[in-house]
Amino acid sequence: MRQTLTINTNAERYTVTTETGLFFHFGSMVRELFPGKKVAVITDDTVKSIYEEHLTKQMNDAGIQWRLISFPPGEASKSFETLPKLYSQLLDFQLTRDDVVIAFGGGVVGDIAGFAAATYQRGVNLVQVPTTLMAMVDASIGGKNGANLPEGKNMAGTFYQPREVFIDPRFVRTLPDKILEDGMAEVIKYGCVFDPDLFSDLIDRAMKSDGGGIETIIFRCCLIKKQIIELDCKDEGIAMLLNFGHTFGHCIEDYFPEGTYTHGQAVSIGMYATALAGERYGFTAPNTAKLIKELTGSYGLPHSLPEGTDIEKVVEAVKRDKKRRGDKLNLVLLEKIGKGFLHQIDKADYAKFIDPHQ
Ligand code: MG
Repeated sequence: MRQTLTINTNAERYTVTTETGLFFHFGSMVRELFPGKKVAVITDDTVKSIYEEHLTKQMNDAGIQWRLISFPPGEASKSFETLPKLYSQLLDFQLTRDDVVIAFGGGVVGDIAGFAAATYQRGVNLVQVPTTLMAMVDASIGGKNGANLPEGKNMAGTFYQPREVFIDPRFVRTLPDKILEDGMAEVIKYGCVFDPDLFSDLIDRAMKSDGGGIETIIFRCCLIKKQIIELDCKDEGIAMLLNFGHTFGHCIEDYFPEGTYTHGQAVSIGMYATALAGERYGFTAPNTAKLIKELTGSYGLPHSLPEGTDIEKVVEAVKRDKKRRGDKLNLVLLEKIGKGFLHQIDKADYAKFIDPHQ
């Protein structure tokens, strides 16, 4: 079933289409939207190896003049070194401002291809086609893009809304379990902060463990994200609630060697620790952390760091961050499942707040 929703920000308006099997008529959908335009599909080598054949057939059958551009997979490609390579290929293809860039892949592809599209000739039409659950529910909508700098992740980037987002939930069926679980952390986050019914549906779904219903879940997350970015497309107010579990999560990602924890695993640990701290300080209803622990666990996600980890060291980055963004930290806490709120504390107090042994 095809489901669409329209995102209306102050300046932009675009459609998110979710449909299982959308990829089987992808070429004609692109041609309908951008008749006669050139299309550059940017992806990574892994996604290319899986979908190149099908993509080629789709684009050729639709009579589209197109080119496939790819780069090595992984976070290392989300850097400024990737950009000139992309620009040169776009120039070589003689892509103009009226033409189209399609970001086809997971979060890294969405970010760096989005950044390239936003900046190449001061901006070309961008279509997001996320292929991971994480990118479908989180990164593909909202127009954020970015690149990492040696000093930190996402330290450069723009807000640049796509012209269209195409989501085919079928893609997630071809993902390894670990990548799917990773995206579930963000799905659970939506339930925790905004939607108690989604949270309980996720519990039911985990108990059935038949893998079904993912289409509905993806669409619900997109609807929540739509409502939030329409109110706050620049991440200044309510959209900050999307960071639930992410303050501690980012510390974990930074502290441990690359690859120890995925983003989703780190966020999962962050959500549990934050709920636990919220309960300790009387902000959060009792039992909330336990519910989160059970739900994340049923999707194969961790809830805590190894026994004996020095939490104070893990969160040191928060203190160091003072220089960049002042003394205060906007924490996302839960009142209960389905209701998040912002709470400001001093960065200096964060370790004490989050560490259960202090
Ligand atoms: Mg995230």
